[in-house]
Amino acid sequence: MQTHLLGYPRIGSNRELKKACENYWSGKIPLDELLEVGKTITHQNWKLQQEAGIDLIPCNDFSYYDQVLDMTLTVGAIPERYQEIALKKYELDLYFAMARGLQKDGLDITAMKMTKWFDTNYHYIVPEFQKNQEFKLFSNKIIQEFISAKQAGINAKPVIIGLLTYLLLAKEKEEGFDKLDLAQNLLPVYIQILKELENHGAKYIQFDEPFLALDLNEKAKETYQFIYAEIRKQFPNLKFIIATYFDGLKDNLALATSLSIDVLHIDLVRSPEQLDEVLNIIPNTLSLSLGIVDGRNIWKNNFQNSLNIIKTAIQKIGSERVFIAPSCSLLHSPFDLNSEKNEDILSPEIKQWLAFAKQKVYEIVNLKKLASENPDYNVLQALAENKKAIENRKTSTLIHNQDVKNRVDVTTKEDAQRNSPFNVRKETQQEVLQLPLFPTTTIGSFPQTKEVRTWRAKFKKGKLNAEQYDTLLKQETERTIRWQEEIGIDVLVHGEFERNDMVEYFGEQLAGFAFTQNGWVQSYGSRCVKPPVIFGDVHRPNPMTVYWSEYAQSLTQKWVKGMLTGPVTILQWSFVRDDQPRSLTCKQIALAIRDEVNDLEKAGIRIIQIDEPAIREGLPLRKSDWQNYLKWAVEAFRISASGVEDATQIHTHMCYSEFNDIIQNIADMDADVITIECSRSQMELLNAFADFQYPNEIGPGVYDIHSPRVPSKEEMVELLKKAQAVIPAQQLWVNPDCGLKTRHWDETEKALIAMVEASREMSKEF
Ligand code: GLN
Ligand code: ZN
Repeated sequence: MQTHLLGYPRIGSNRELKKACENYWSGKIPLDELLEVGKTITHQNWKLQQEAGIDLIPCNDFSYYDQVLDMTLTVGAIPERYQEIALKKYELDLYFAMARGLQKDGLDITAMKMTKWFDTNYHYIVPEFQKNQEFKLFSNKIIQEFISAKQAGINAKPVIIGLLTYLLLAKEKEEGFDKLDLAQNLLPVYIQILKELENHGAKYIQFDEPFLALDLNEKAKETYQFIYAEIRKQFPNLKFIIATYFDGLKDNLALATSLSIDVLHIDLVRSPEQLDEVLNIIPNTLSLSLGIVDGRNIWKNNFQNSLNIIKTAIQKIGSERVFIAPSCSLLHSPFDLNSEKNEDILSPEIKQWLAFAKQKVYEIVNLKKLASENPDYNVLQALAENKKAIENRKTSTLIHNQDVKNRVDVTTKEDAQRNSPFNVRKETQQEVLQLPLFPTTTIGSFPQTKEVRTWRAKFKKGKLNAEQYDTLLKQETERTIRWQEEIGIDVLVHGEFERNDMVEYFGEQLAGFAFTQNGWVQSYGSRCVKPPVIFGDVHRPNPMTVYWSEYAQSLTQKWVKGMLTGPVTILQWSFVRDDQPRSLTCKQIALAIRDEVNDLEKAGIRIIQIDEPAIREGLPLRKSDWQNYLKWAVEAFRISASGVEDATQIHTHMCYSEFNDIIQNIADMDADVITIECSRSQMELLNAFADFQYPNEIGPGVYDIHSPRVPSKEEMVELLKKAQAVIPAQQLWVNPDCGLKTRHWDETEKALIAMVEASREMSKEF
C-alpha cells in the first residue's frame, strides 16, 4: 500500500506567494526575490510531506499563477499576440503577461481568458488554439521541479495535466477544426517531456485527466485509447497514474480501466458508489488509488468509514495494488488548521471537526498505518481521537436545532409559490409602484472607497466604536441616496457600505455558520477567498438588513430596493456540511432568507432583490444530474421569495452566464424582475430570453462595470434598442451589469447620469 497526494496548496501558509507576486508585479521586488519565495514554498511543502511519511510526493504542482497556464507555456502554445515579447522577456514575464495582459512601454496586449476549473471556485487560464496549432517544448519547468526535488532527496512524482484534459480545456480560436485533432501534434512534446523525466530518474508520472469523469463523445474516447497506447509504447518502464476527480467514471469506466497505465485514481468522496463497480472490472495489471480524504472540503475524515473502504479494496485486489490519497489536489483546501488560534473566531468545539491541507496529509498517513497489519499505539490513539471527534460532531448541540428541522419538514409546495401568477402581480405592483417605462436602477453596491474600507478595518480593531462606525455609514448611505435622487434614478439602493462581502455579511449573522482567520483558498492567480463554514442547521436569529434598508427608505419618497444574497449563492460560496444533502442545507438557508424578505416587507420595503449570481456555476458536471440540482436550487430561491404579497416586487440578479440551456429553470424562479450581465455580449445573452418569450421583466446590463471606462449615452441607447427589438418595452429595465463596489465615484457618477439619460431617450419613443 502506498500513500500519495495529487497536489498541495502553493499560496503559502501566510499567503507568501500572493504577496510576493503582487510585489513583483508592482515593481517592489526583483525577480530573484520572487523566485526565492517560490522555491521556499515548494521545499517546505515537500519537507512537510516527507516528514509526515507520504510515499509519493508530487512535484510540478507548484505554480506562480495557474497549472494550466504552466502547461501552455511548457508546450509552447503561446498565442500570436505575445510572440513579440516572447523573444525579449524573461520566461516568467511572458507568463505573467499571458495571465494578466501587458500595458507598458507602448504595448497593450490583452490577457488570456480565465474560467472556472470544473465545478470549483478555482479559475484557470484557457489555452487558445489555432487551426494549425503547433507545439514545441518551450518551458522546462516540469523538469526543473523534478531536479530540484531530487536535489532535496526526493524522487518526486511529476504532476502533469493529461494530454486529453489539456486539449479539452482549450478554446478553438478559429472555425473549422476540432481541438481533438491536435492530439497528434501535441503527443511528441509529451513524449519529449517524459523522456527527459525518465532520464533524470523519474519513476511515477501523474496525469490529471478529470475529463474521464465527465460526459465524453466517441471521438474523445477513441483519442484517449490512442494517446495512452502510444505513450505506453515509448515508455514500458515508467509507472503512469491517471487521476480522475470531481465525479465518478460512470459510462467511462470501461474506457478508464482499459487504458495502458499502472494506477487509476478515483474520487470516492464525490462518487463513493463507484468503488464496487471499479473493483469488479479492474484488470490485474492496474492498481487503484482510493481518493478517500475530501480534497475540497474542510471536514475531518471519518477514519472508520475510510478503513472499511480500504479493506474492501485490499480484499479484492491485494494491498500492493492499493494507493490511498485525497480525492483531488489539496489546492482547494486551506493551508493549516493550526493557524486558527483565535477561539472567538473559531471555537475549539468546531475546530476539532476540521482538517485543512496539512492535517489531511497526516490523515492519509494515519489511514495507511491503521490499515496495516499491526498499527502501533500512537496511531490507535489517533483512531480513538478521530472517533471521538466524529461522534461529537454527530451529536453536538451546536449543529442540531430541532426547530429548524421541523420547519423544513412542514415546508410545502405552497411555500414556494407566490399568491398570484406574474401577470396578476404585475398589475398590482404597477398600481403601487407607479414606475415609468424603462425604469432605472442599480444592482446594489456603490463604490467601496478606501475610506469605507478603513472605517470597517478600524471598527473591527476597536479603533472606532459601534456608534461612530454607524454614523459614518449612515452619512455615506444618505449621500448616496441623495445623489441617486438628484440624477433621477427610479429605484434606489442604499449602497451596501456596511458589507464586506455578499456572502460573509449574511453568514456572520446566520446561525450555523463559522469563520476562519486564515482559511484562504486560491481562486485565481494571487487572488484568494476565505469561504465561511456552514457547520450546522441554519436559521436567522435576528433581522440582518432591515436596519439599513429602513434607514435608507426613511430618507426618500422614492422606492429603495432591499438587497439580499440568495440561498444557492450562499451555499455555493461556502464550505458546506457533508452530513446532510446540499439540497437540505440550501432549504434551511432559503427559509432564513425568507424570514428576512418578509421582515423587509413589513418594514415597508416594496422592492426586494435576492441575488443569485452563483446559480449556474452550481450545475453538476454531468448533464444527467442537472435537472435534479436545478429543481432544488430553483425551489430554494422560490421559498425565499414567496412569503410576500403580490404588490411586493421581487428582483433577482445574475452575473454573466449562458442562459440558453437553463432558461426554463430561470423562468421557473418566477422573479418579477431579473437583472443580468449583458453589455459585454452586446445583448446577445438576451436572445435566450427572447426566444423563450420570457414573460417577466428583465434588466439587461447596459454597461460593463469591470472597467473604469465611462460609457456614452449613445452606446447605451444603442444597446437598449437592441434589447427592445427582441423584448417588449413594457418588460425592460435599465441598469448596469453588476454592483459598483469596485468602481470609483467619478466614473460611477458620469456613467449613471448617462444611463438615466439613455432611459429617458428611450421612453420618448413610447
Ligand atoms: N448586490 C451585489 C452588488 O451589487 C451583487 C454582486 C454580484 O452579483 N456579484 O455588489
Ligand atoms: Zn453581478
